[in-house]
Amino acid sequence: MEQELLDGRVLVKVGDLTKEDVDAIVNAANSGLMGGGGVDGAIHRAGGRAILDECKRIRETDWPEGLPTGRAVITTGGDLKARHVIHTVGPVWSGRPGKDEQLASCYTESLRLAADQGLRTIAFPAISTGIYHFPKDRAARVASAAVKAFLEENDSIEQVRFVFFSEGDARTFLENSGF
Ligand code: ADP
Repeated sequence: MEQELLDGRVLVKVGDLTKEDVDAIVNAANSGLMGGGGVDGAIHRAGGRAILDECKRIRETDWPEGLPTGRAVITTGGDLKARHVIHTVGPVWSGRPGKDEQLASCYTESLRLAADQGLRTIAFPAISTGIYHFPKDRAARVASAAVKAFLEENDSIEQVRFVFFSEGDARTFLENSGF
């Protein structure tokens, strides 16, 4: 299942994010940046040691206390098809105020980093909707609004992909997205 939106600048699809042939894939990381479960574990397994080595360097230099929620950093893609991985830390869902803004920031900061590096294609997972339990319909509204606003102001990014593990998740996204 694949669907183009916004004249092809957005692609919604079902698949394995780690196999995407784009300039950067985005990792739903945790603040420690040392890998973990879910899509984070899959990216480190598929991309190999080079990603972890760069994450360690980032922890030693820029973020000794860990990467804050809503921020993003970039590393090599290692053995992945994607040349880069952008690591961002999604909010853990709790229903408390500010979670939407933190999730939106993950998307906006990742896109800004990609654009600053001259990257043109970027693929996202559904950040925070797994282990971090953000409601999937709500995450779809937040993610689509953040990406739409970014693309309206930036024309260097050619395509943003939303890659879902299941058909059901892709459908939930399409039903709630504001594209
Ligand atoms: P978080 O901790 O931010 O919730 P998770 O990795 O637990 O991150 O889940 C985020 C989303 O990524 C979930 O919807 C999950 O189904 C999905 N996911 C997990 N592995 C992959 C993968 N290889 N490709 C695409 N999506 C994936």
